[in-house]
Amino acid sequence: MFVTISTTGTAVNPAADLGYLLHKHPDKVQTFSTSHGPAHVFYPEAGPERCTAALLLEVDTVALVRRGKGKGRGGAPDAALAQYVNDRPYAASSLLAVAVSNVFSSAMRGVCKARPELAAAPLPLRVEVPVLPARGGAALVRRLFEPLGWTVDVTPVPLDTAFPEWGDSRYVRLVLEAGTLTLAEALRHLYVLLPVLDDAKHYWVSADEVDKLLRAGEGWLPGHPEQKLITSRYLSRRWSLTRQAMERLELVRLAEADDSEVESIDNAVEEDTEAEEKPTPLAVQRREAILDALRESGAARVLDLGCGQGQLVQALLKDVRYTEIVGVDVSVRALTIASRRLKLDRMGERQASRVTLFQGSLAYTDKRLKSYDAAVLSEVIEHLDLPRLPALEYAVFGAARPRTVVVTTPNVEYNVRWETLPAGHVRHGDHRFEWTREEFRTWAATVAERHGYGVAFRPVGPDDPEVGPPTQMAVFTLETAHDEKEKEAKAA
Ligand code: SAH
Repeated sequence: MFVTISTTGTAVNPAADLGYLLHKHPDKVQTFSTSHGPAHVFYPEAGPERCTAALLLEVDTVALVRRGKGKGRGGAPDAALAQYVNDRPYAASSLLAVAVSNVFSSAMRGVCKARPELAAAPLPLRVEVPVLPARGGAALVRRLFEPLGWTVDVTPVPLDTAFPEWGDSRYVRLVLEAGTLTLAEALRHLYVLLPVLDDAKHYWVSADEVDKLLRAGEGWLPGHPEQKLITSRYLSRRWSLTRQAMERLELVRLAEADDSEVESIDNAVEEDTEAEEKPTPLAVQRREAILDALRESGAARVLDLGCGQGQLVQALLKDVRYTEIVGVDVSVRALTIASRRLKLDRMGERQASRVTLFQGSLAYTDKRLKSYDAAVLSEVIEHLDLPRLPALEYAVFGAARPRTVVVTTPNVEYNVRWETLPAGHVRHGDHRFEWTREEFRTWAATVAERHGYGVAFRPVGPDDPEVGPPTQMAVFTLETAHDEKEKEAKAA
């Protein structure tokens, strides 16, 4: 049984990066012994543009039977031959998942001492499983992988190509592609979902399987639309374990929902229209400032990059001057909430034709972002690790190149004015950095210079004489002369 993992792209060095992340050298064939037989890791290709690592598990069916682990589904006592002659050596099952976790254990935990920033970064990934037993068929395969950000290509394998009239087997060929996941996330998806699709565990399910499931499911299983099916199948339908796991997942989901609802302390107070006396929440002031800048730019087709739960998209929809509004976010969960907020499924056709939400990562160039009038990055840049920021800069200012770009970010100097914020803390747990006014201006000026934009700064919220405003905003405007000059230079 066999699985391959590939990475491509120019932002990365595929061969070296995949080698580092998997802790397996691309020039070697390595063999590891697992309890089900030897597992080989090798690289069918390791070039500058594309690198593929393969894991091949040679299942020892005889040993499986001797250990009493080979019964699989059904396991009729008289099916003696079937114990030896079965799909185990060829089809990717729970045995392959176990091999993945044995052979790539550090990679699965996202540990890469030599290159920690690499392990934390999403990669362009392609996973291929040539033969996967899929109980539930292609439709279930999609329902399991698509919510996680994978593009899924699933082809049923015919029972016998010589006799097409026999129809399809219960196996599929699976190809998964994503640009928004880390390798660790990808491996953890496979570790859980391969056995779920196989639906027959080939080893004893013990109580610590619940821990293993929750560990591997961290960050994606809580709130997955098929959470219950995944949990129950993974735990071989042992109801007491399943119930235990579901309860723990629900606790995780509730805890997560709590902090995603509070994007930052200043967003915590959402619009409260009756609160005349209360000062306007900063989130609302920020939205107004962004809308002002967009209106002045004359934009009609607008991107909201890192749109989160869709508050700005909703405000833009109310103004007919915006003919096309696109919300992009890396988080499927945020997009689900946004789509609920906008009531996309109940919207009239005219209205619906003005708005699109899609999943994407701003750390990669994306053709879908080209040729818009304006793009907004509202409270987004501080969510990227600093080493990833140049990739976003390039994707937005270098590749997508909208005429106007509005960027907002917290002003860290103002943090001393937040009564509820302990000294030295950032405003939200997921902020990777918060900048002073000076730092933001320097960054913005460099980006503008590099990509041929002009830039102006505006305060958002009360502009404190000492520490400045709580939110800082930069409005970038494309200097058309820049692109013209480039064109001329190219022509010459
Ligand atoms: N723009 C919204 C949400 C800000 S929260 C507002 O102003 O309220 C930051 C958002 O950026 C989150 O929804 C997060 O999922 C998204 N994000 C973070 N990194 C991203 C990336 N690399 N690509 C796309 N979106 C990203």
